[in-house]
Amino acid sequence: MNFFKAATMPVPLLEAPAQLWSELVDHLRIQGAGIRESGAFLLGQKTEASRLITHYLPYERLQANALHDDYVSLTAASFAKLWDLCRAEKLSVLADVHTHRLGAGQSRSDRANPMVALVGHIALIVPRFAQGRVQLQDLGMYVYQGNHKWMTYSGADISRLVRLSHNGGAQ
Ligand SMILES: [Zn+2]
Repeated sequence: MNFFKAATMPVPLLEAPAQLWSELVDHLRIQGAGIRESGAFLLGQKTEASRLITHYLPYERLQANALHDDYVSLTAASFAKLWDLCRAEKLSVLADVHTHRLGAGQSRSDRANPMVALVGHIALIVPRFAQGRVQLQDLGMYVYQGNHKWMTYSGADISRLVRLSHNGGAQ
């Protein structure tokens, strides 16, 4: 083991197979159809060093009426389903993602109502209802700090904090 490398490599906050990521973005684009928001939970394995996304769970699969023109919302019953599924499949909720009509900034409601109100939970926002070519640096990334406070990342920071891997292995 190379401790020097381990200590100096920037740890990605989120890792995902590139294929899974592009399927997710396609899903959000198609589901929103350019007219409404869409979203998903990103599930996978969490260790102290990394969060590896292995599955995504679209909101409408948890709750048929979750998607609206300008917001997404889930009931307590849908969250109960989510936690049951995670327990059964031994998955963690690593992040959530949803689209916005225009930019990737958080709405007042996004800030006030984290999908998962745990410190370190990550919320991603994809602009323009995920239409067109979506690049990592187009996203907004928000890391929950508790107490309705968030760390905000955008642009080149996102490419540093989200790593897409090819062929199932790290790049
Ligand atoms: Zn929002």
